[in-house]
Amino acid sequence: MQFIDLAAQYEHLKTRIDSRIQTVLDHGCYIMGPEVEELESQLADYVGVKHAITCANGTDALQLCMMVLDIKEGDAVFCPTFTFFATAEVVAFANATPVFVDSDVQTFNICPVDLEKRILEVISEGKLIPRAIIAVDLFGLPANYPEIQKIADKYGLKLIEDAAQGFGGAINGQRAGSFGDIATTSFFPAKPLGCYGDGGAIFTNNDDYATLLKSLRVHGKGSDKYDNVRIGINSRLDTIQAAVLLEKLAVFPQELVHRNRAASFYSTRLSDRFVTPILPAGYTSSWAQYTLIDDKREAVMAEYKSKGVPTMIYYGTCMHQQTAFSHLNYSDADFPIASLLAKQVFSLPMHPYITETSLESICLISK
Ligand SMILES: *Cc1c(COP(=O)(O)O)cnc(C)c1O
Repeated sequence: MQFIDLAAQYEHLKTRIDSRIQTVLDHGCYIMGPEVEELESQLADYVGVKHAITCANGTDALQLCMMVLDIKEGDAVFCPTFTFFATAEVVAFANATPVFVDSDVQTFNICPVDLEKRILEVISEGKLIPRAIIAVDLFGLPANYPEIQKIADKYGLKLIEDAAQGFGGAINGQRAGSFGDIATTSFFPAKPLGCYGDGGAIFTNNDDYATLLKSLRVHGKGSDKYDNVRIGINSRLDTIQAAVLLEKLAVFPQELVHRNRAASFYSTRLSDRFVTPILPAGYTSSWAQYTLIDDKREAVMAEYKSKGVPTMIYYGTCMHQQTAFSHLNYSDADFPIASLLAKQVFSLPMHPYITETSLESICLISK
């Protein structure tokens, strides 16, 4: 059994993906070919924003946001401590200071109450300028944007949605990728919408941001490619990856139905044995991960392993526990919820092609 079965998905889409890739090989526009623009237009439509700008990966997407918002030394950017490294890495890479925030115990996402507390602390210390919040749609569930947006407005902060795992999620029908001032996603193969290599995208309704992003992703180009009007980076999505994504996006809504079916199956069967994930009213998850809590997870994971079922830990190390951030001098006591989650969470196989037989056999283990 696979944790995420990309081979099963390819088997399903093989004819269409092969033919799309062949089209690229035939026209030969490997960089910024027509598929890239076609994909950007479809992504913007799906998410419900004016602009989708693709780039080389989800980390670059976040870094480009830092560049667009002019985040720099002396700035504070608030982000969850319980997330993937890239969320905080891009802040430090911009020479700004990541200020970590504890998690909500039910959703695993950034806790709005703790967020406001940390903002007030930074203001009263007076050393850093509070500039932005990066909220993460962890495991596919959108963060609490109604509350977080209120806080961003109250303190004049920019809000970035890191929807690397959240693509396909929604709050009351409003899709992930459309929250805050600017949002990012990743097309890493294991994400809900993945390509066959690295890829990423940025979403915004702001015309100025979109224009700037299109320049920044190609060495800060001006109207002419060899007229460089600012310092940028080289971060484009390969045409072949755009071709793959066009075919995967076409079946994505259907895949989302299957992901949700698998999650419901798990939750129905496992809720009296484990703490199962919460879906707040009006929220849709893209189920990037199906994550359980158990205070004896090592024993449970060993049992699954002995029955041939792969499980994973996302994440066993919070940002405040990372060696690269040890100079920030945080301790576990600063983040009681996230530190506990890091010790107790584990994730079960989750992908749209998982069979009912597999789900059934997984749920019979550890009863
Ligand atoms: C995967 C991920 C990223 C980075 O995406 P890459 O495409 O791997 O660079 C950023 N943030 C979160 C929350 C992620 O899960």
